[in-house]
Amino acid sequence: MNHTLERWNTTKSTDTYGVDEWSGGYFHIADNGDLMVMPAPGKKKRAVSIKEIVEGIRERGLDMPVLLRIENILDSQIAALNNCFTHAMEVLHYQGKFMGAYPIKVNQQQQVIEAITHFGSRYHHGLEAGSKAELVAAMGMLTDKNALLICNGYKDQEFIDLGLYASKIGYKCILVVEMPSELPLIIQRSRALGATPLLGIRIKLAAQAGGHWGESGGERSIFGLNTTQMIEAVDLLSREGMLDCLQMVHYHLGSQISNIREIRTAVNEACRVYAGLAMEGANVQYLDLGGGLAVDYDGSQSNFLSSRNYTLNEYCTDIIEAVMTSLDEVNIPHPTIITESGRALVAYYSMLIFNVLDVTRFQPEPLPEILPDTCPAQIRNMYDSLQELSIRNMQECFNDIIYYRDEVRQMFNHGKISLRERSLAEKIFWTTINEVARLAGELKHVAPEIADIERVLSDIYYCNFSVFQSLPDAWAIDQLFPVMPIHRLNEKPTRKGIIADITCDCDGKIDRFIDRKEVKRFLPLHELKNGEEYYLGTFLVGAYQETLGDLHNLLGDTNVVTVRVLENGEYEFVGELEGDSVADILSYVEYDPKNLIVRFRKTAEKAVRNGNITPQERREIMQAYEMGLRGYTYFER
Ligand SMILES: *Cc1c(COP(=O)(O)O)cnc(C)c1O
Repeated sequence: MNHTLERWNTTKSTDTYGVDEWSGGYFHIADNGDLMVMPAPGKKKRAVSIKEIVEGIRERGLDMPVLLRIENILDSQIAALNNCFTHAMEVLHYQGKFMGAYPIKVNQQQQVIEAITHFGSRYHHGLEAGSKAELVAAMGMLTDKNALLICNGYKDQEFIDLGLYASKIGYKCILVVEMPSELPLIIQRSRALGATPLLGIRIKLAAQAGGHWGESGGERSIFGLNTTQMIEAVDLLSREGMLDCLQMVHYHLGSQISNIREIRTAVNEACRVYAGLAMEGANVQYLDLGGGLAVDYDGSQSNFLSSRNYTLNEYCTDIIEAVMTSLDEVNIPHPTIITESGRALVAYYSMLIFNVLDVTRFQPEPLPEILPDTCPAQIRNMYDSLQELSIRNMQECFNDIIYYRDEVRQMFNHGKISLRERSLAEKIFWTTINEVARLAGELKHVAPEIADIERVLSDIYYCNFSVFQSLPDAWAIDQLFPVMPIHRLNEKPTRKGIIADITCDCDGKIDRFIDRKEVKRFLPLHELKNGEEYYLGTFLVGAYQETLGDLHNLLGDTNVVTVRVLENGEYEFVGELEGDSVADILSYVEYDPKNLIVRFRKTAEKAVRNGNITPQERREIMQAYEMGLRGYTYFER
């Protein structure tokens, strides 16, 4: 039996990569070792091998990396959110209803908005726009007049006018007052355009959530009205005879709220405000809780930043109960509950697939039998220390080897030892470190610096993608995403590695991985096989990653492929977007590709005149240059 197949099976891979914990039911490992995507959780018959899709993509001529979207997952997530709220409302005898609005900023791509409005229409799932451009997109895409069109964000006259026109056409467009100064302008423009606006007020909550994005709540939050400003708004609307228009209370606590307690506290406070406005005579009917529904990226089900300590059902139930408790007390009818969940709707539906280009290992190299006579004492000491290494003196040897290694470096810098001698010292060093790691593996408890050797010795897998372009949150805010191979999962992953991208930037890497308890510093991976691609995937990347990415090292948008899985388990390609070419990228930074060709041709012609190249060679070189401009910005096989 092949040694890597020994005592390994797909169940162990499922466990190693935590698939059942983070996958939301959308992924599982097949017996042949392929990772399968399963748009209807639990329906294994309707599952497709991701590797098969990837091979299909390559056969059609698109290269890695590719952002792969599974359209039906979006459908399933929209259904899950709406059904869960509706079901919980029935169970709890809630008198109002639920309506969702997808916040465009979470993934603005037309394909995404199109799919959401399409799948969402049976629930009247609406859209939330936070800027003029988003509103323009929303008005173009939303056709369901029963769905909500919620306008947040700082509004100028143009923004307000667009919203009012949307109302006139018949959209349920709600202008949310984010700043006190917006209200007089909205009133003035409504009069001018003869429109009756639907108004909401964004409130500042005292309750503040922790985490990266929690700043949106709290007294110091940038947007929203404080209590005094709310009262002033009510008085103004009342003077203008428009208090009827004020129908919604809105807040947004921040994204990825891991702790259910913070969600509950905020709902409570918002209900008090809602009740207060009702008592002031406002015609409130909608309570909009914004986003915040978190994704369990690491599968730990905890209040860790990349997780959440609640299920979707608990989220819905807790919100409904909190609203009922607050409002029943003061006899105020139950509002329509709105959430603007973005992350939770779209995260699952995209994955980034890339191939591994190369691996660096930190392995011992063969050492000489005896050291040369001229060998400096420090190197000799290192060698002796290695010979004597055992479990009992492991710590001492480890300390010695580091001490001598530093000394050898010093001597090298002072010109006292040669390059060849330094190389010998380094070989001894890595041999010793590997040996210490092996011995430490036999012990239950080891010192932290020795335990850390495992990380230091992990391989570097060079992968064909850019963290900056495709996983900006992994770089900017240390967001964790599940990463794993998409095939060979019936083989034991015998290596431990970290992932480096092709930007050659020391930040262009993934060296923190999901774990049930903490953050893992390396990922179990397979050895590369000669002549065979090794594909990895980063999952749950559908939210926020696509447009926050940047052009670091001029690596552009990746190819994007959208797949729909059919009832019979087959699948079809429903969308293909070619990624940026080199010419595209260069024009983003203001180059004119045609002008570049002209300039380079002059340089090449000069070389012909100087006799460096023949005219024939000039032609070949120019062809290569122009091909380069048309090519993909990533590594092409
Ligand atoms: C960003 C944002 C959202 C989306 O939040 P998620 O946590 O991604 O669901 C919703 N509403 C507003 C006002 C936002 O700014």
